[in-house]
Amino acid sequence: MTEQNSSVPDFEADAAQAVTLKGTPASRGIAFGRITFLKRQAAPEEKIIVSNPQAEVERFEKARTQAIEQLGQLYEASLEKLGEQNAVVFQIHQMMLDDPDYVAQIEELIVAEKCNAEYAVDQVADRFAQMFANMDNEYMQGRAADVQDVSRRIVQILLGQKGITSPHQITKYGDEPLILATDDLAPSETVQLDKEHVEGILTSAGSTRSHTVIFARTMGIPAVISMGDTLNESLEGHLVIVDGANGVVYLDPNAELQEHYRQRKRTEDALRARLELFRGKETRTLSGRQIHLYANIGSADDIDLVKASDAEGVGLFRSEYIYLHAQDYPDEESQFQIYRDAAQALDGRKLIIRTMDIGADKTAAYFMLKHEENPAMGMRAVRICLSHPDIFKTQLRALLRASVFGNLAIMFPMITSTDEVKACRKILQEAQAELTQAGIPFNAAMEVGIMIETPAAALISDELAPLVDFFSIGTNDLTQFTLAVDRQNAEVGRFLNPYHHAVIRLIEMTIKNAHAHGIWAGVCGELAADEGFTHQLIAMGVDEISVTPSSVLMLRARIATLA
Ligand code: PEP
Ligand code: MG
Repeated sequence: MTEQNSSVPDFEADAAQAVTLKGTPASRGIAFGRITFLKRQAAPEEKIIVSNPQAEVERFEKARTQAIEQLGQLYEASLEKLGEQNAVVFQIHQMMLDDPDYVAQIEELIVAEKCNAEYAVDQVADRFAQMFANMDNEYMQGRAADVQDVSRRIVQILLGQKGITSPHQITKYGDEPLILATDDLAPSETVQLDKEHVEGILTSAGSTRSHTVIFARTMGIPAVISMGDTLNESLEGHLVIVDGANGVVYLDPNAELQEHYRQRKRTEDALRARLELFRGKETRTLSGRQIHLYANIGSADDIDLVKASDAEGVGLFRSEYIYLHAQDYPDEESQFQIYRDAAQALDGRKLIIRTMDIGADKTAAYFMLKHEENPAMGMRAVRICLSHPDIFKTQLRALLRASVFGNLAIMFPMITSTDEVKACRKILQEAQAELTQAGIPFNAAMEVGIMIETPAAALISDELAPLVDFFSIGTNDLTQFTLAVDRQNAEVGRFLNPYHHAVIRLIEMTIKNAHAHGIWAGVCGELAADEGFTHQLIAMGVDEISVTPSSVLMLRARIATLA
C-alpha cells in the first residue's frame, strides 16, 4: 500500500495475504464465525458373530419401522421450516428404507455372515453410497449422503442412542457465531441446525446436488463444500469468513478484511431482503406489461430449485440430459414418467421441454455418432431426430402422453429451415395419430415452438412463425454461429460477444416477426440473465425470459424498474 492511497484500504491485497481455503461454492452469502467440528456419536462398526441371526433380522426390522416413524415426524416438523417441496426429502428417506433391495441385502448379510444388524446396515449403506457416488448423474451422486443418513438413523436406534434428533455435539465458543465443519452433512442434520448459532457450513466432501445444499440455500446458510483435506481438525476454533458465492474461506482475517466483508454482507442482506419483496408476484414492467419469467433446467430434479426460485414455470428443459445419463436409448415409458412427474410437480405452471439436442458437446456412446471435425455444425439435434424418426417418435409419444398432466409445451432445437419444422411436425402428427388409434389421451392443443439459435432461423423467422406457436431465442448458439466463434473454445472466448450488433439485430428481427404473425417470443440463452441487458430485451418487446433459477428474483426486480 502506498502513502497516497493509505486511507483507502487495499482489500484485494489483504485478501491475498490472509490464508484462503478453497472449495466448491454451494450456498451464497457471507458468514463470520469460529470453526467448530461436528462430533458425531461413534457408531461401532465392528462385526459381532451372533448365535441367532433370525433374532437379529427382527431387531433390524423393529429399528427400521421406528426409523420410518421418526422420519414421518421429521417431515411434519420440516414443513414449516423448509416448505413442502423440501420437506418431501424425508418422505423419500422413508421410501429408501422401504426399498426391497436395500432391506433384502441387509437381511441376507445378517443371515449369510451371522453378524449383528449394525454391521450389516453399515456395510450395505456403504455399498449403496458407493454405487450412487459412482454414477455419472450428479443428482444420483447426491443421493449417497441420503442413504448414509437413513442408515445412520437405523444404527443409532439399534444402539439405543438418543436418536438422530440430537446425534452430535458441537463445541460452543461463548455466544460467538459458529461455522460448522464436517466431512459431509446429512439432510436431517442440516434441517436441525440451530440457525441462531450456526452461520455457515463447510464440508470436506459433498455434492452441490445434495439435499443438504438445497436446504442450506433455502435456509439462507452460506456453504462451501468439497474442501478436501484443507478442512481438518487443526482449524477448530479459528475465526473465519465464509464467502459462499465464491467458495472461499478466509482464515484468521485481519480487522480490515473483516470490516470489508461486514460491509459486503450488509449490502447483500439488504439486497436479498429487497428481492424477497418480489416473491409470489407477477413479473411486470413499470407500465404494467407482463413478462413471463421462467427457469432453465437440465433435469426434472431441478424442479425443486425452480419452485424455490419462484419462477413462473420452466422455459427450457434440456431433455438431452435424460439421454446423456442413460446407457441406451431411454424408452417411451421411462421418458413419459419423467415428463409427467415434472409437469405434475409444477402444478399448472408452464413446462417447455426441448426435444433432445444431442450432438456437439453432448454425446452418448450408444448414438454411435461418427467422429466429426466440427460437431457443433454436424449431426446434432433435429438433424439426428429426422434421420432416426423412430428415436424421435419415442420421445414425442412420451411428451404427448405427459401433456395431459400439466401445462406442457415442446420446442425443437437447431432449426435452420421451414422444411425441418414441417418434417418435425409431420412426425408429431404421426405420433398423435398412433395415440388416438390406441385410445391414449394427449393434449391436441399443446403449444409447439422452435428455438431460434441459428442465423438462418432468425433471418427466415417471418417464414417460420406461421408454422409454430412460439419462438425461444437461444443466444448461446445464435452468438456462436453468427460470429463464427466456437463456444467451446476458450482460446476464442473473448470473441464470443452476444452484444455484437449482428446478434442484437437478429434477436430484434425474430421478436418483430413473431409479433407480426401473432405468436410470442422469448429468450432462453445466457444473455437473458444479464441484468444489464434486460432493458434492451424489454424495449425489443420480448414476451418471455428464461434463466437459471438463481437469477429469477433479481430479474423480476429489475424488470419492475423498466418502462
Ligand atoms: C442456446 O443455444 O442459447 C440454448 C439455450 O441452448 P443450449 O445452451 O442448450 O445450446
Ligand atoms: Mg443451443
